[in-house]
Amino acid sequence: MIERENALLLSKWIDSAEVISAVCHARPDGDAAGCVVAAALYASLCRGKDALIILPDAAPASIQFIFDQAPLRVIDARSNPLEAGERLRRTDLLFCLDFNTLSRTEGLEEALRSCPGRKVLVDHHQAPALEEFDLCFSSTGVSSACELLYNLLLQMPDIDSDASRLPLPAATALMCGMTTDTNNFANSVFPGTLRMASELLAAGVDRGDLIDKLYFSERPNRIAAQGEMLSSKMSLLSCGVAVTVLDKSFYERHALLDGETEGFVNIPLTIKDIKLSILAREEDGRLRVSLRSKRGVSARELAVQSFHGGGHEQASGGKILIPDDIASPSLAQAYIEDVAARFMRENYAIEK
Ligand code: 5GP
Ligand code: MN
Repeated sequence: MIERENALLLSKWIDSAEVISAVCHARPDGDAAGCVVAAALYASLCRGKDALIILPDAAPASIQFIFDQAPLRVIDARSNPLEAGERLRRTDLLFCLDFNTLSRTEGLEEALRSCPGRKVLVDHHQAPALEEFDLCFSSTGVSSACELLYNLLLQMPDIDSDASRLPLPAATALMCGMTTDTNNFANSVFPGTLRMASELLAAGVDRGDLIDKLYFSERPNRIAAQGEMLSSKMSLLSCGVAVTVLDKSFYERHALLDGETEGFVNIPLTIKDIKLSILAREEDGRLRVSLRSKRGVSARELAVQSFHGGGHEQASGGKILIPDDIASPSLAQAYIEDVAARFMRENYAIEK
């Protein structure tokens, strides 16, 4: 999965770099946060480099603890674009983590393109834009970017396949990203994923504490919002698709913070005959769409075809543009239902 030669080349590049930065995709999730923290910590604590994290925009409060447990500086490029730009101009080596093309960093894309440093990709999405990077570590045969980065770090000469040599906050961050991207071991689990979990546990990661922070620290209004979504926002189509549209008033009514509906899209898939769950959230001038599917149905295909997006076979995302796709947000529900029913009919011969 990771060629030794390329791992050693990266190690040489780390040696010769002075300033190292780690970036991930916009709206960071647990996997993105986990790998920027682990990469920057490794560069700083194990290799003595000036290393920090640049986020395209702020991480949601629910995963802030991953950053808080690490002695690292984090630049939020949306609120500090000048500082991010200045740092990128001085960066010798740039870790590009959990995205397959620079455009997934949205507002940070141009600044990344003009970064003079070497760009190293570590990612688990299909079809990486190889020409945008100087060195690519890319595989879809892993749970998460954190798992791939873990395998890469094990190949660094100072770590030499011994996870206990990783700084504990880096090991914890990697466990965290793997845990969230597998939905706590419910999907995308490979033999190597469990090996990683086992080795990180042995290395001292407190998984109980992690699970407590990730899954038992909810705000009550998030649970109340889930209640309203399930009782009156989710519609179940007879072709096995669940469609949910959350408008701005939903977010206001429950005083939800950015990222607080993360994971909602997974819930309808727990219903027996639902094979695909589509959740759209209203934003200014568009809706952001999340898709999740059971094996045998490609969420990615529908994201590419109908929602200007992409992602993984079973977890993908995209958007509905106003006015390009629909005239107003109130038409989103009917639009998605129509697109989804056609998709199931044409690809899986499932009629309404
Ligand atoms: P989420 O539903 O959690 O926002 O996104 C799930 C997955 O879909 C992400 O991990 C990412 O791979 C992919 N994804 C989300 N939004 C987009 C998008 O706008 N474009 C592309 N190409 N992929 C996306
Ligand atoms: Mn990921």
